[in-house]
Parts: sequence; structure tokens; C-alpha cells
Amino acid sequence: MENNAHKILIVDDNDKNIQVLANFLIEENYDVDYALNGFDALDLINSEDFTLILLDIMMPEMDGFEVCKRIKEREKKNEIPVIFLTARTDIDSIEKAFEHGGQDYLTKPFNSNELLARVKTHIELKTNRDKLKNTNKWLEKKVAERTAELEQSMAILESKNNELEQFAYISSHDLQEPLRTVSSFVELLDQEYRGKFDDNADIYIRFILESTNRMRNLIHGLLEYSILGKGRAAERVDCHEILRLVLEDFQVVISESQGEIESGPLPTLNAYPIELKQLFGNLIGNALKYCREGVSPIINISSRKQDDTWEFKFKDNGIGIDEKFYETIFIIFQRLHNKQDYEGTGIGLAQCRKIVELHNGKIWVESIRDKGSEFYFTIKM
Ligand code: ADP
Repeated sequence: MENNAHKILIVDDNDKNIQVLANFLIEENYDVDYALNGFDALDLINSEDFTLILLDIMMPEMDGFEVCKRIKEREKKNEIPVIFLTARTDIDSIEKAFEHGGQDYLTKPFNSNELLARVKTHIELKTNRDKLKNTNKWLEKKVAERTAELEQSMAILESKNNELEQFAYISSHDLQEPLRTVSSFVELLDQEYRGKFDDNADIYIRFILESTNRMRNLIHGLLEYSILGKGRAAERVDCHEILRLVLEDFQVVISESQGEIESGPLPTLNAYPIELKQLFGNLIGNALKYCREGVSPIINISSRKQDDTWEFKFKDNGIGIDEKFYETIFIIFQRLHNKQDYEGTGIGLAQCRKIVELHNGKIWVESIRDKGSEFYFTIKM
């Protein structure tokens, strides 16, 4: 009964042939229609859905080759399999039938078993092709829907991120002014009145001074974080030169701690120079700060090229980091130490990550406690 869904068109100028073939196919539960010439056949094909066409070759006005050619030129209809069914047995006709887009060729008088087997095969092939096409269409639709959803989420995320950065910028910028006033007056109070109140007052003033300093560092870090990459452009940057400038800034700390900085060959690449200097500075600054007590810091900087990416490594011999903190340390304000042990704001590595992402790269750490850390980052060219 399942054959009922499949409609077969018989095209033949001989009504006797049509009758025999139609009776046979109806018995096999196929739905059958017919046309006595090419023009009628093309009209029918246009208006109805056929799963298969059985096509005679020798017909007046338009032969089977021409009918087949015209079917194959029609979008949506060109996938209907055409089986030529003809009295012609010469090799030229067979070749021509395939050249004009026919899928199969049978000679008359036909062997009913063979005809049925071929009809079944071609219908099965077409059904499977249709299924595959539908599945592909469904998949394409799903992918398009998902992509649209993803794009929408990305746009929302980007706008929220911009809002947040704008907020961070405005608030840190606007906080600077009142903080400056508070610090100036506390400094004045310290200079002019130290020792004139009681001991407690001196301690309170010192606490306020320390806190305002800390707050200044935090606000400065936040402000820097929020403007990373803004209004600047990438240019050719020599990493040796960047390193030289950073080491100049750290000259005093390096000599006081008897630190050593080793560097391998570094590339010249397309990057944001100010941000890259900040990135180098934060990593070197941390390597100097988180050194082990009584052990002079040794920092090794190297790079290697992998396809279209430069990978940098900043290795130190410091206190190291527990594996469970490998991710958290890159989150803004996340610190593993209190301010008594190590001064800091928890902004440095978040800045590093933002700078690396600005260069389409990644940043990560590998470390062993009490041995040292290796900070890696990549920059895409
Ligand atoms: P900060 O140094 O101001 O605390 P960072 O964002 O630079 O902030 O670093 C986050 C935390 O990661 C630090 O508090 C520290 O615990 C850890 N860390 C960073 N660099 C190193 C390093 N080279 N060795 C050991 N720990 C480090």
C-alpha cells in the first residue's frame, strides 16, 4: 500500500502501450497518470508532482529526448527520475537518452519484473535524495536560527560590556577629583598636626593616608583598564624596544632585589604599543613582586611563532600559584594575597587578559608552588 504515495507519469503516443503499463503499475499500487505527447506531458509535469516518469522516445512533434531535456531544464522538476521505455535498441539512442538526462533505459516489450525492479530502485533513490535534501534544509534552518540567536546575544553582550566599561570609566574618572581633595587635606593634616593630637589621632591619619593611596591606585587601575585599546591603532612594534622601556621603569626594583632578566629573540609585530608595554610591565612587575623570600628573582622572556600566531612566555622563579587559581587570577579584583603580604589591586592580570584579547590572543598560566610560574600569551598576526 505504501506505493500509493508515488505517482508515475507514462508518456507514450500509443494508448495500447499506456494501458498495459498503467494496468501493471496500478496492480502494484502505484498512482498512474499519462500523456499521449510531449507537450501534454510537460504541462502535467508542471501542474502535478510525479515521483517518476516513464518516457517513450519515438513520438510525433516532440520526441522523448527533447521532452527529457526540457524536464531537466526546469528547476524543481529536474530531479524527477526519467526512465526511457522504447523499442529502440541501438547504442546511439541509449547514449542519447543518458546525454539528455535520462536515469535509465528499458526496451519494449518490457520484462515486468525488470521494469518493476528499476521503478522501485529509482523511486527509492529519489525518496532518499528528497529526505536528505529536507534534512539538509532543516539543518541549514536550525544553523541559521542558532547563528541569529548567537549574534543577537553577542550584540547584547557587547552593548552591556560597553555600558559597563563606560560606567567604569566615568565612575573612576569622577572619583579622582574628590579623592584628590581628601588626600590633599589629609596630607596637610599629617604635615601640620602630627604630634599635636594624641597618639591615636596620628594612627588614624596614617590609616586614612594609606587608604587614600590604595584608593588612588585602584581608581587609576580601573581607569586604565576601561580605556585599553580605545582610540588607538595597532602599528609595527619591536618587542625588544618594549622590553627595554619596561626594564627602565623597573630599574630600581630590579637592582634592589638583585633580579635578573633574560630574554631570547623577540619579534617585531603588529600590536597596540601602549597596551603591549602595559602587558609586559604587568607580567614583569608581578614576577618581581611575587618572588620567594631570600631568592633573587630570575625572569626569562621568550617567544616562538606558530602558524599565524606569536606565543610569548614569561617565566619566573617566584612563589608560584595553586592550580585551582589558574583561571581566577585573571578576573578583575581577584587577589590571592592580602595587602599586608603583597601590595596590589587585583587589576593587573585582568588588564593583561583584556590586552591579549584585543590582539585576538589567549593568556594562561602554568605554575608550581614555591618553584615559579610560566605566563603564556598569544598574539595573532
Ligand atoms: P595584584 O598583583 O595587584 O594582586 P594581579 O591581577 O596582577 O593583581 O594578580 C592577581 C593575583 O595573581 C595576585 O594577587 C597573585 O596572587 C597572583 N599572581 C600574579 N602574578 C603572579 C606571579 N608571577 N607569581 C605568583 N602569583 C602571581
